[in-house]
Amino acid sequence: MLTDSNSNSLSAFQNLESNVRSYSRSFPTVFRKGVGAILEDEKGFEYIDFLTGAGALNYGHNDPDLLNAVAEYLQSNGVIHALDMATSAKREFMECFDATILHPRGLKYKFQFPGPTGTNAVEAALKLARKVTGRRSIISFTNAFHGVSLGALAVTGNRHYRDVAGLPPAGGIFMHYDGYFGADIDTSEYLDKVLSDASSGIDLPAAIILETVQGEGGINVASEKWLRSVERLCRKNGILLIVDDVQAGCGRTGSFFSFEFAGLSPDIVVLSKSLSGLGLPLSLLLLKPELDVWQPAEHIGTFRGNNLALVTATSALRKFWANDNLCDDVMKKGGVMSERLREIALSTQKHNLSVRGRGLMLALDCATGNLAEKIQRKAFEGGLVVERCGAEDHVIKFLPPLTIDAQTLQRGLDILELSVHASA
Ligand code: PMP
Repeated sequence: MLTDSNSNSLSAFQNLESNVRSYSRSFPTVFRKGVGAILEDEKGFEYIDFLTGAGALNYGHNDPDLLNAVAEYLQSNGVIHALDMATSAKREFMECFDATILHPRGLKYKFQFPGPTGTNAVEAALKLARKVTGRRSIISFTNAFHGVSLGALAVTGNRHYRDVAGLPPAGGIFMHYDGYFGADIDTSEYLDKVLSDASSGIDLPAAIILETVQGEGGINVASEKWLRSVERLCRKNGILLIVDDVQAGCGRTGSFFSFEFAGLSPDIVVLSKSLSGLGLPLSLLLLKPELDVWQPAEHIGTFRGNNLALVTATSALRKFWANDNLCDDVMKKGGVMSERLREIALSTQKHNLSVRGRGLMLALDCATGNLAEKIQRKAFEGGLVVERCGAEDHVIKFLPPLTIDAQTLQRGLDILELSVHASA
């Protein structure tokens, strides 16, 4: 049995867990409970969670209806593991997703369940794009993050991850994300030019993969115009468009898919993180039916379609996606939050802070990693969990639960404001 003193201690993590651990360093306490937007540690301290599993908990911690769904399924001896055999949980999920999300948006996709992580789904998407087109390279963008296994790493920008690959991450070509050279330069024009020029030295790729808002790369927001231009040049050159909606999807930006506002029709969509709704591992590839050129069992894995996660995912679709209320709420709260963040940014003469983002995927750019770290540390001491992102970890990222109540949201922002002012 754990005693009070060792249950509060981090020494087990320091002594037993690999040095590779990361979040437990930024948030040095031992968490034991989560309810909605609140995390509680073993000492009974409460923290407002604006990180939410890096976007894996869009509906907050332990939503009671999702918990009930999983408890009922377990009590009924529902099958938990079945490889990719047909299960009633998977059928219900696919039918519900098709009826609730795809059909109302006029979208038609087939479902592929790869291994449970976002990276697993990205790997499958890249492999499929190569198989369909017979081409090798994939274009991705500066500051992109798509995962850290070899294929996904080849389209991930940050050297911090690329340098430890052990092999040259091969097959990715980096182009410039929207705004990379400032607002006046349209980087899609450059992309169009090099793809149209048979002598540019840039081979036609199998696919272009992008995030509409770059989550790990610094909450860089692509404009509607840029996204449409990229889609257009994909069509012109027979390039598949893959939208990685692992972090920006499932309502985070104010619509189920982050690309809806731009009217895109991606060939492949990658989803994970908040798909299960309860933080259970689940990922999904949506692919246009004509791209389904897989031969049976060409891409396999033991954990394809986690039945418990499929049960909670279906429950989340029924609870949150039967109407537009959640999206309306995200836009409202996103507006309130970004306004307050702008006030906080303006309220300090000491620092040059700026705010950006879309929906409830927002950020405070602190210009330096040092300052961002100080603010993050102070925030944690004050009871707020926020993560940093961007090339130099200089951006504080806000991913509160979409379901957060107005009062808790303001309390979190109050803590942030104090932390900004206390970070000289
Ligand atoms: N794509 C994006 C856009 C992500 O944000 C992440 C995770 N941060 C991934 C892929 C990888 O997902 P996972 O960590 O589940 O492998």
